[in-house]
Amino acid sequence: KSLPHLLQILTQYGILECLATHLFAKDILSLARTAKAAHQAILCSRESRLNLLKKTSCDGIGVRIRQVSHRKSKFFYAFDCRDNTRCGAAQEPPNSEMYPCVSCGVTTCQECRTHCVYQSHYQLADEEDELPCFSGFVLLDEHEMAILSPEHLRESGSWTTTVSLPHHDQGFLDSPLDSGAFSSIELIDEIIDTNLGDGELKGTNWSGSPHPSAVVQAFWKVSERRKRNLCKGCFEDTMLAACPSQGPCCCTLRSHFLDRWLCLRCYQREEKSI
Ligand SMILES: [Zn+2]
Ligand SMILES: [Zn+2]
Ligand SMILES: [Zn+2]
Ligand SMILES: [Zn+2]
Repeated sequence: KSLPHLLQILTQYGILECLATHLFAKDILSLARTAKAAHQAILCSRESRLNLLKKTSCDGIGVRIRQVSHRKSKFFYAFDCRDNTRCGAAQEPPNSEMYPCVSCGVTTCQECRTHCVYQSHYQLADEEDELPCFSGFVLLDEHEMAILSPEHLRESGSWTTTVSLPHHDQGFLDSPLDSGAFSSIELIDEIIDTNLGDGELKGTNWSGSPHPSAVVQAFWKVSERRKRNLCKGCFEDTMLAACPSQGPCCCTLRSHFLDRWLCLRCYQREEKSI
């Protein structure tokens, strides 16, 4: 008799809302599975489910997906390189910049969401007149890539004063660290603002070769698959207005992955469904 009574109390919406702020999304969903009343209170209306999920904290799953997908190069171990990958909820103090994923509604932090370029590693400069080194990964591609800051190109920037912070989706992408392949650097802004329906993602230093350069290769895999698809399939209703309903995709990597707050679980689901 006591359990149904407890459930009756727990499933009062105000109490659920309060509980949610102390729980992760998966706890809310398992609570919903415990009894019919709980199921009804939590899952039956889309609005109440999204509202409860919004109140939860990021559970760090995106960071775990990154750690499994991204492979550290031999340089990471050979030099005193550091990894800045930490879920916002686990940072000290916690980083409260969290929003619901546009696709599943689960609260997701800046580090657990999808980025085009994750700037995950850094190495402090040995001497005062030297610059720190940065590296990271394209989406969930396994290869560690060198990344150059604006300061490396003698442009003004703030990376050298904020070395340990992640500088995602910024700066210049350089060659993969573990392969011997060398190609010229690309401005990351330029890559992620390219219209994917226009054809191959060639990069600014394209030389007519049918193969993508080592620098844009990881993006190329994603963009090649996307350009054959119509926009209708790759966007939610709200974004459809921006794209023609027929014809090749006209999205950019930015409109697809950065302007939408997308968790990495949903990114993986989207990639599989293309
Ligand atoms: Zn997180
Ligand atoms: Zn999601
Ligand atoms: Zn699209
Ligand atoms: Zn489009």
